[in-house]
Amino acid sequence: MEKEFEVRSRDGVATYAVAFILEFGRLNVYCKCPAGILGKWCKHKMRLISGDVTGVLATSGAVDMVEVLSWIRNSEFPRLLDEMKTAKNEMQVAKIKMDKVKKTLEKSVQKGVAVCQK
Ligand SMILES: [Zn+2]
Repeated sequence: MEKEFEVRSRDGVATYAVAFILEFGRLNVYCKCPAGILGKWCKHKMRLISGDVTGVLATSGAVDMVEVLSWIRNSEFPRLLDEMKTAKNEMQVAKIKMDKVKKTLEKSVQKGVAVCQK
């Protein structure tokens, strides 16, 4: 089964076709934006996989969207999105720690540090 939606880009001008193909129990997502054509991750796929239907053109079909959202709910995508969210939070914590260590190191370079002499 294939369902395709026209999704408006954030610039409000361009629209890209995002296709969901459910075949043999596997869900594939394709987007025809410049990144998507290269098979790369893009914000259009991300937006729809996250359940955010902002920018999906009304003519795309609300019934099809309801069906695709149920495919997504029953797929690994929600777990993977949670994993990504957790990783993002861990990255922010690590960044705060890194900034703190960097400041301490900068101060230490300016003020000098103790040296053990024997
Ligand atoms: Zn895209």
